[in-house]
Amino acid sequence: MSEPGSIIDATDALSSVPAAGSRRCAPQTGRIRWYFGPMDCGKSTLALQIDHNQARQGRHGLVLVRHDRSGRPQISSRIGISRQATEVADDADLRQLVRSRWASGQRVDYLVVDEAQFLSTEQVEQLAELADDAQVDVYCFGIATDFRSRMFPGARRLFELADELHPVQVEVLCWCGLQGRFNARVSGGRVLREGDTVMVADTDFADEVRYQVLCRRHFRTGELAAEPVSPAQLSFS
Ligand SMILES: [Zn+2]
Repeated sequence: MSEPGSIIDATDALSSVPAAGSRRCAPQTGRIRWYFGPMDCGKSTLALQIDHNQARQGRHGLVLVRHDRSGRPQISSRIGISRQATEVADDADLRQLVRSRWASGQRVDYLVVDEAQFLSTEQVEQLAELADDAQVDVYCFGIATDFRSRMFPGARRLFELADELHPVQVEVLCWCGLQGRFNARVSGGRVLREGDTVMVADTDFADEVRYQVLCRRHFRTGELAAEPVSPAQLSFS
């Protein structure tokens, strides 16, 4: 028989709730927020707005972009606002990029990354490291799935690692009126199912290949508009 004072509650060790003391010294980390939606849904505009709001609070940020539609290192939204940005190369180490800013005496409190679906999985992991170890807040904006409705590798890693997921849906509708969810690659009136994953719109191919936002059903069936009434149905013969 042991004395009452020496009794140890064995279930303490199994408790998933940490004691108040250890909660108080929980480390601070930055947060990764992933804003995703189809093209034309206003992601770039939102990215610029968030950068503006952060800067107004006296925070210092770095705006990064991959393959912006303007072809220049800036974020340009389709409603005409733009901002200088740093283009991220395929093999760029984002930790190194931030460290070089620190080395030149600049603070980096947050990162805004547009077209983040084009980041490599390694680059998304570098963002997680910056958030966890350097308390950098990360705001990523992009498209979840490619023209085949398959997830971009960078987008997939963001879904896996982000602290917050934010679907962005600003009145992008399929022609039928349902919510537009998929970016179909269209050429010659047909939905293309094969091809390179990365082909940025507004290029020389724009005449032949374009993107159209469709609901899931019409992405699946490949119908690009309401069936036109055939001439035969209109004739009396
Ligand atoms: Zn539809």
